[in-house]
Amino acid sequence: MARRLHVADAFEAPEDEEVELFGWIRNKRVHGGLVFLELRDSTGTIQVTVKRGLIEEGSFVEASEVTRESSVIVTGIVKKDPRAPGGAEIRCTSFKVIGKSIAEFPIKPGASVKFLLDNRHLHLRSPKVTAIMKIRALLTGLLHEWFRKNGFTEIHCPTFITAAVEGGATLFKVDYFGKNVYLTQSVQFYQEAAIFGLEKVYTIQPSFRAELSRTRRHLTEFWHVEAEMANATLEDMMAVVERLVGDTVKALAESAGPYLKILGKNINASIAEPPYPRIKYAEALEILRSKGFNIEWGQDFGADEERELSKEFDKPFFVTHYPKEAKAFYHMPDPSDPRVTLSADLLAPGGYGEIVGGGQRIHDYELLVQRIREAGLNPSDYEWYLDLRKYGSVPHSGFGLGLERMLWWLLGMVHIRSVTLFPRTPTRVYP
Ligand code: ATP
Ligand code: MG
Repeated sequence: MARRLHVADAFEAPEDEEVELFGWIRNKRVHGGLVFLELRDSTGTIQVTVKRGLIEEGSFVEASEVTRESSVIVTGIVKKDPRAPGGAEIRCTSFKVIGKSIAEFPIKPGASVKFLLDNRHLHLRSPKVTAIMKIRALLTGLLHEWFRKNGFTEIHCPTFITAAVEGGATLFKVDYFGKNVYLTQSVQFYQEAAIFGLEKVYTIQPSFRAELSRTRRHLTEFWHVEAEMANATLEDMMAVVERLVGDTVKALAESAGPYLKILGKNINASIAEPPYPRIKYAEALEILRSKGFNIEWGQDFGADEERELSKEFDKPFFVTHYPKEAKAFYHMPDPSDPRVTLSADLLAPGGYGEIVGGGQRIHDYELLVQRIREAGLNPSDYEWYLDLRKYGSVPHSGFGLGLERMLWWLLGMVHIRSVTLFPRTPTRVYP
């Protein structure tokens, strides 16, 4: 009996072993009595040669007529051959079609970006997309591992919410039995409630932002890696972010090698090695003004500003102490300069910009009520959130990291949607 192997293992199998592979036909070339097939599975692509005379005639005919993307079972002998892609091929001894492709596969070399996105459900089979999804899964696993090793408890928060975390303009409204509720932009408020029992919590789940800004770094649905810590200052939060990003990038660089090779990419772990530079908003403003940006004190930086700023660095860097006007009401004012907040964003170098946003939260009841009013909001809409400041409040800090933003930066993609299975953007909710 031939061993049933995956493609990656077939490359490692001893010469002349008979193996059985299951996969899909990626390509076919016929040269008279010789058929070259590219067989693809979740682990890679290998060349299969089918020679008339060396295989039952019925199987040979089946192989020579097989259509692209048909699913098949191939049995054959492993042959090391430096001319074959990857250095080995399978000399077919038996060939069986499982599921025939009954129409011409629409994705062809040179297809446009729009066509590929319209046919994302089929494009997902490409080795490159598969490699990206493997890397995404690796990174997600590494993030979970890091939090657990460092004493964070994973929690799962609701997606239906009644009050905005990031601001009303980017909320998706949902009809909830005749009542208006919204899709969550961040689980921060729920995490703040949870730290009073669990102290250090984290969540990896989708956030939704109705952002019409058609930048290359915004999705309307993205996976948000959020954490909140009791008894933690802005400094503590930055230390956690620095270690989280540094350690996971290092581990990813060590484990993603085969997939990066398929993408023709490389992750150099030293680009994320701590410590990360820190600059205050005021200094960032000076840099941007010297580059010709006309920004008023208090304005938040947009994608253009962050892109320019992050070209100045070759490592991730923190921008800290944003003005009150640029940040949501819950950010803690700096006691030594109340014009600014104890906030920090982590920007990726090389033009990528923000990948993490966070800071210290207001833990004082009166101050929080005052800041809610100053933001033009109604404290009665934040009743339960204010309650958290009534019973044994504690200084606390947290952050949110965009999973896709991190991958987009590490893989050097043009558009953030490339690292999602089925991207959601203002103009795309199908397929
Ligand atoms: P930006 O200014 O880039 O829109 P933000 O300040 O709105 O980001 P936060 O509210 O701080 O971002 O969210 C935390 C993190 O979530 C961001 O640092 C980013 O990594 C990620 N993120 C935010 N909005 C999006 C989005 N629309 N698409 C993908 N990731 C996002
Ligand atoms: Mg935003």
